[in-house]
Amino acid sequence: MSTSTETRPFEAEVAQVLRLVTHSLYSHKEIFLRELVSNASDACDKLRFEAIGKPELLGNDGELHIDVEFDKDAKTLTVRDNGIGMSREETIANLGSIASSGTRRFLESLSGQQQADARLIGQFGVGFYSAFVVADKVTVLSRRAGAEAKDGVRWESDGQGEYALAAEEIAARGTSVILHLKDDDTEFLDNWKLRDLIRKYSDHVAFPIRMHKQKDGEPTDEWETVNDASALWAKPKSEISDDDYRAFYKSLGHDFNDPLAWTHNRVEGSQRFTTLLYVPAQPPFDLLMGARDERKGVKLYIKRVFIMDAAEELLPNYLRFVRGVVDADDLPLNVSREILQHNRQIERIKASCVKRVLDLLESLAKSDAEKFRNFCRAFGTTLKEGIVEDPSNRERIAKLLRFASTKGEGAEQNVLLDDYIGRMQPGQDAIWYVTADSYRAAAGSPQLEAFKARGIEVLLMFDRIDEWVMGQFPEYEGKPFRNVAKGELPLDEAGRKKQEEAAKEAEPLVKRLKDLLGDRVNDVKVSARLTDSPSCLALSDHDLAPHLARLLRDAGQEVPDSKPTLEINPAHALVQRVGSETDEAKAKDLALLLLEQAEITVGAQLPDPAAFVQRLNRLLSA
Ligand code: ADP
Ligand code: MG
Repeated sequence: MSTSTETRPFEAEVAQVLRLVTHSLYSHKEIFLRELVSNASDACDKLRFEAIGKPELLGNDGELHIDVEFDKDAKTLTVRDNGIGMSREETIANLGSIASSGTRRFLESLSGQQQADARLIGQFGVGFYSAFVVADKVTVLSRRAGAEAKDGVRWESDGQGEYALAAEEIAARGTSVILHLKDDDTEFLDNWKLRDLIRKYSDHVAFPIRMHKQKDGEPTDEWETVNDASALWAKPKSEISDDDYRAFYKSLGHDFNDPLAWTHNRVEGSQRFTTLLYVPAQPPFDLLMGARDERKGVKLYIKRVFIMDAAEELLPNYLRFVRGVVDADDLPLNVSREILQHNRQIERIKASCVKRVLDLLESLAKSDAEKFRNFCRAFGTTLKEGIVEDPSNRERIAKLLRFASTKGEGAEQNVLLDDYIGRMQPGQDAIWYVTADSYRAAAGSPQLEAFKARGIEVLLMFDRIDEWVMGQFPEYEGKPFRNVAKGELPLDEAGRKKQEEAAKEAEPLVKRLKDLLGDRVNDVKVSARLTDSPSCLALSDHDLAPHLARLLRDAGQEVPDSKPTLEINPAHALVQRVGSETDEAKAKDLALLLLEQAEITVGAQLPDPAAFVQRLNRLLSA
């Protein structure tokens, strides 16, 4: 090293990533090669993009490629590219701090559970630092495109908290990453092993990945291309095997798993573009994290030139699980993100992507129930957001959704809205549902009793977003949605009469309860919903579900206080006891208990849990 070497500490976060990656990636060591090749390919993409406006950057070295070579004696493995390269400042920013978006999101996603984290690493590009899984020292030599030879930079680290930086004369543009392999990892100093790994993980990198040609088991000076090196999506479908599609997905999505399904289309006509879109089998973890502000996963190319990650411009939020490539022929290469956001052609491409994905899901639902079930488990809730986000496709999305129901198989969400409509009772004009914060709470709601008694099916909803979605989903196929906890129950003539009589008979009881409960309730009514339970809450159409109000309050949000309406079942023994109780204090305890048990079943927060427990104990020991 030269005398002007400077040593710098890694940012604290980098040290953390390094520790995690080197410890957790142990069973998937080999992906370091995929990550380094992917960075080299990104560097070539970036240069090709910059060279659109500045062709002189390419000089007389216009064929971009990635070279992989090793030295058995020195125990080094080198990945070199003639891409964009890095200046001194860029190496500091990119390799010494958490500048890279990928690594930052990785860090943010760490839950502290090491077990889960190890799985997550596999689903995510952890990038450059994975080199330290197999190397005890990494040297990076880089020269920025357009910079002079003397402005090259040498970066070196053992991955233990510091790195060294020095100026170095470098003859050609681009970056070499030299791994000094650990003694345990010399298996990677093998021609065939490396070729296998390149074909396995990087076959569809769009630049040639070259290795030395072998003769008599020894490398020659001649280079040969090891990977397919073509843009897979640009080939005719007939020339692409399912394995090709799967391999491409893995290199694109940094995912170890096979995708669930994919759709590949070429659109000709007034506007020409190609889309290759994948539905993953498991949620990638930025989805779990809800990292909405910075979505990745769909790459925009223009005439095979990578332009940018443009998931947000090319797909709506509710399809954020989709991964893939869009290649447009008719956009100018110098588009900016700002232009993309207000571009009519992009709008059309986006609409086409949405259509393709919905087509794909529909055909999957028809052809492979098991796979579609997996899809619903992984992404059903995300797709459901489309009901609100994409009114133009609301019917199509609604047809794909699966719900749990009182006539379904337990908590399994596999009842279609069309199934429900097919099973509606004569005279039933609404689709009934209940929302709660768990399957048990939904299935156990007292409000369901009258529906069960009359054989009316009720959809059981317990996703966090259901209340919000249903608030903006008034009807399906001409049938209105109704929440069982809200508003009046529609009764037939006989039912209405019976209800009126019951209400009249219970008038004194209702009055007594109102007096006893005072300002804890808005109103007390005789219920048509109950058969077995003594009481339940009824909400008005604009009331927030109590479990949701609690969630929002826990999240620190302002929620207007609204007093519940208590519905009672005058036939229930407990309710009758309130009516006949002569001891005023005891009657009040009983009345409050009727209210509070109704509040508990809908997941509301009791205003004073300790008082509730004292009351209960007073009554039990009386
Ligand atoms: P990511 O690729 O997700 O950004 P990495 O950890 O793989 O994260 O890489 C960090 C950053 O280092 C890259 O974003 C890039 O700026 C820089 N980098 C890494 N390898 C190269 C390379 N071969 N040429 C140019 N820049 C590189
Ligand atoms: Mg990377």
